[in-house]
Amino acid sequence: MERTSIDQLTEAGQAAGVAAVRPTSQASFGGGAVIACDSLVRIYSTAGIEVQALQGLDLLIEPGELTALVGASGSGKSTLLNILAGLDTPTAGRARVAGHDLLAMSTRERLDYRRESVGFLWQQTSRNLFSHLTAAENVALPMRLAARGRKARKQRTAELLDTLGVGYCRDRMPAEMSGGEQQRVSIGVALANEPAVLLADEPTGELDTGTGEEVFAALRTANTDLGVTILVVTHDQQVSDQVRRTIAIRDGRISTEVLRHTHTDAEGQEADVAQEYAVLDRAGRLQIPRDFIETLDMRDRVLLALESDHVGVWPDAAVRGDGPGVRHRAHGRHERADEAVTPRSASPDPATPPNDQPDA
Ligand code: ADP
Ligand code: MG
Repeated sequence: MERTSIDQLTEAGQAAGVAAVRPTSQASFGGGAVIACDSLVRIYSTAGIEVQALQGLDLLIEPGELTALVGASGSGKSTLLNILAGLDTPTAGRARVAGHDLLAMSTRERLDYRRESVGFLWQQTSRNLFSHLTAAENVALPMRLAARGRKARKQRTAELLDTLGVGYCRDRMPAEMSGGEQQRVSIGVALANEPAVLLADEPTGELDTGTGEEVFAALRTANTDLGVTILVVTHDQQVSDQVRRTIAIRDGRISTEVLRHTHTDAEGQEADVAQEYAVLDRAGRLQIPRDFIETLDMRDRVLLALESDHVGVWPDAAVRGDGPGVRHRAHGRHERADEAVTPRSASPDPATPPNDQPDA
């Protein structure tokens, strides 16, 4: 989406006979995305040791999406969620959620942001609910803190508990509810002030499979019926299989994305189709899957070639010990500046005639 708008600007600039300029204003960053992270960095320094928990992470999430975030332990998932929740601040980069610049908020704005713009759901049920308040009192509390009237509070509390399937728990204390019921009430607490975004860090991690599914179903209901954008960290393959978009984080950056959609074939048969993508960041960087790299013994540098409809990547023959045999034509860089003078509709790069392809 980002690229399209830049390409359109480039083309519009060419048509108008002016140099194309990459837009840099705050307004253009992330467009209509409700969550927009640009080169986000978070470095923890403890006892003289630096840990780069986020290493230039880019992420765009559109309003209304239900996205799963997966990744190995220590890959930076909680760090990202804590930043998006306004509980932690990044070391560098940009992050915007629901129109708030997370790096430029005052203490007061940060408090309001946490109270009204984002909801948070933790893995530990005890962290989401006050043990001395009933389910209804827990859900009503954020609305009291936001000074909403008694009648509105009562109505919203009842609606939320019913929508989440736990209306019957309204007068129970947390200790009188199962783990799954507590988490569903907790979703109500997180959504009380109608935040634009709900962030959930392994909300089903402490639950058995069946109960976890119930909680996830409640999250889906919140997404579809209440329209809240949800980003959920999960280890649960069943959860990530049920969402349209699963993003994987590796070493503090988004590495791959799986998009799922329902495909209808010519006979009208419907099938779920999942496609895995590598992520191309704003600087043009791409992470090649580790197994691809190992299979082809790629190291240090690779040869790139621009084809008419794809880019080829080859291991460096010298590194592989294949000797100086066939030399592939490398296009180390394909500058966007070239595109400004070469119309996009032109025939394939004349430097790479079709019969001079490395794999020909
Ligand atoms: P995940 O949630 O994916 O398991 P985290 O975001 O918790 O990963 O952690 C990412 C990295 O940052 C890890 O190496 C972790 O040890 C480190 N880290 C997280 N929080 C802190 C902290 N408060 N102080 C120092 N290092 C931290
Ligand atoms: Mg974590």
